[in-house]
Amino acid sequence: MMNNIENITDLTNKVALVTGGGSGIGLGIAEQFIKLGAKVVITGRDSKKLEAAKSKLGTNCFFYINDVTKKSEHHNLVKNIEEKIGPIEILVNNAGKHQKKPSIEVTDEEFQEVIDTNVNSIFSLTREVLKYMIIREKGSVINISSMAALYGIPLVAAYSSSKTALLGMTRALTSEYSHTGIRFNTIAPGFIESKMFRNAMAQDPERENKILSRTPAQRFGAPSDIAKAAAFLASDASVFITGICLPVDGGNSIGF
Ligand code: NDP
Repeated sequence: MMNNIENITDLTNKVALVTGGGSGIGLGIAEQFIKLGAKVVITGRDSKKLEAAKSKLGTNCFFYINDVTKKSEHHNLVKNIEEKIGPIEILVNNAGKHQKKPSIEVTDEEFQEVIDTNVNSIFSLTREVLKYMIIREKGSVINISSMAALYGIPLVAAYSSSKTALLGMTRALTSEYSHTGIRFNTIAPGFIESKMFRNAMAQDPERENKILSRTPAQRFGAPSDIAKAAAFLASDASVFITGICLPVDGGNSIGF
């Protein structure tokens, strides 16, 4: 008998670390993983947001306050989770910083801030988690990139640069470590309802209709749409898939 999707994406007792899991896409991913049986550790900078998420998600949700740009904390964060919650089998690098501004007005410091949050912190945290995954010879690392990595979008040069860098990082890690049983993939979300999305739209209300008219699915995405794709990439359902970038965008990336 063929397995149904719930069975092949079973995450029972697996420990997942989801950065920026207190809201938006990260919260949606944490919720989906818990439904599939995982224990999920969420991180972020805002303790109130994390507490609210924990009370929504229940006893299989744990949280740590961590600013991903504080790379010196990553070693202890990962060690703590490994010792207190269990072996991290899934890492979702979701926390991210958006920036929308004419490129000639972006300062070096502002550009660097986006790179620090969206690239450097991901490399640092992944490196710490990999040290444990390599010993156990299994794991799934999912990097949340963006459509901004796949085609040109105005006013987001720093953000696009950072999200494109994630594709290269994912491919390099794939070629270096996939023989160990660890898989690395990226998801490129389209336009997904979240605080980040609403902030970006607030600067240009007309853009909403333009985007919808160019989205074959004729709707914005929900965090749960990304969460289902993440569950697939986290689970054994995708056991031979590594190094890919999966657009989850209602068809935006076909260039409709
Ligand atoms: P939200 O603003 O809802 O969530 C972003 C999360 O990242 C927050 O929980 C925030 O937590 C966390 N975060 C931001 N900076 C840091 C930091 N320095 N340290 C720790 N946590 C941090 O946005 P989304 O859910 O939309 O974004 C999630 C990911 O999806 C991002 O990487 C984004 O680039 C990507 N994405 C989103 C799209 C969309 O349309 N929504 C499209 C394409 C990609 P806190 O502020 O509490 O620390």
